[in-house]
Amino acid sequence: MIYLSPPHLGEKEAQLVQEALLSNWIAPQGPHLDRFEQDLAAKLQAPYVVGVSSGTAAIHLGLRALGVGPGDEVITPSFSFIASASPITFLGAKPVFVDSEPGTWNMDPELLEQALKNRRATGKKVKAIVMVHAYGMPAMTDEILSLAKTYEVPVLEDAADALGATLQGKQVGTFGDIGVLSFNGNKIITTSGGGALLTPHEQHAQFVRYLATQAKSPVPHYEHAEIGYNYRLSNVLAAIGIGQMEVLEDRISRRRAIFAEYQQSLEPISAISFPQERSGARSNRWLTIIRMAQGGWERLHEQLKAHAIESRPVWKPLHLQPAFSGVTSYLNGVSETLFSQCLCLPSGSAMTGEQIQEVVEIIKKHQSL
Ligand SMILES: *Cc1c(COP(=O)(O)O)cnc(C)c1O
Repeated sequence: MIYLSPPHLGEKEAQLVQEALLSNWIAPQGPHLDRFEQDLAAKLQAPYVVGVSSGTAAIHLGLRALGVGPGDEVITPSFSFIASASPITFLGAKPVFVDSEPGTWNMDPELLEQALKNRRATGKKVKAIVMVHAYGMPAMTDEILSLAKTYEVPVLEDAADALGATLQGKQVGTFGDIGVLSFNGNKIITTSGGGALLTPHEQHAQFVRYLATQAKSPVPHYEHAEIGYNYRLSNVLAAIGIGQMEVLEDRISRRRAIFAEYQQSLEPISAISFPQERSGARSNRWLTIIRMAQGGWERLHEQLKAHAIESRPVWKPLHLQPAFSGVTSYLNGVSETLFSQCLCLPSGSAMTGEQIQEVVEIIKKHQSL
């Protein structure tokens, strides 16, 4: 079976996990978690990093640090994984969906402006904007940040897919008031499950560390002035993360090479296209995605499956999800078109050139039918 994006360990992870086990630091928190946070901070040039149990947990904590609470509205892209929106509802707040622009597939700044204006006109308080870098492609960050500034709304940057992607050389995840990473098993590097929250604001980092450990007051007995969560990353899993950080650049190079190989092999087919980087933007090419002008990913997906090759449609837009029926949305049709035309191809960094060609041959056959 050729999987979509399986974990790819380096040489050090087993040794680091053994070190954590032998030192008896099996707890959440411990020296490996401290080191993993330091490695992330150094790589991303992020002043504060908090390791947590998942990307979803990091978004939940981040929104709470930005003051999101019952009845508030939070603007988030429709074209994303559900975890960009579900923590909004955990807090009793309401998501407002904004559609994509066709270049990066991320939040359309024009529609965002329309949404911000419109929400203001109706007297609704937009408490935060979630800016996602979908599939590792940097969003229209300058435009979104400038609107956020004009309307005085903080930005939570969901870079869960996008670790190592950059814009003008700066790492994504470090542009917003809060940034979020995921180390889930299918991401570019993994701790099996895990996440991190990045921020330039010391008070947000302190508050999030406190919330992530049950909001315990600093006294000898258990004292809780408010409700927190049990969201810290295990020290054992952080040991895996330290090893994975050592190979991060290799993993990105390999994913970019896999993208280039698919693109080169399939370029002659005019009905197939690939998402392109804007100048100054560097995607981590987490997943290679093909767009088929005539749609019909279902049949190709079936044919790949028959050859033991895993593929996956892109996210079904959140405004079409039954769980979000009736949610206020600002739409232009782009996310719905992407959903009907796009398929994610196997992109794991351990894939061989032969495996890529195996996938390519099936796509070529499919397109010639
Ligand atoms: C994976 C992902 C998340 C959630 O991360 P988990 O670690 O799986 O909780 C959030 N947003 C996006 C865009 C993702 O792809």
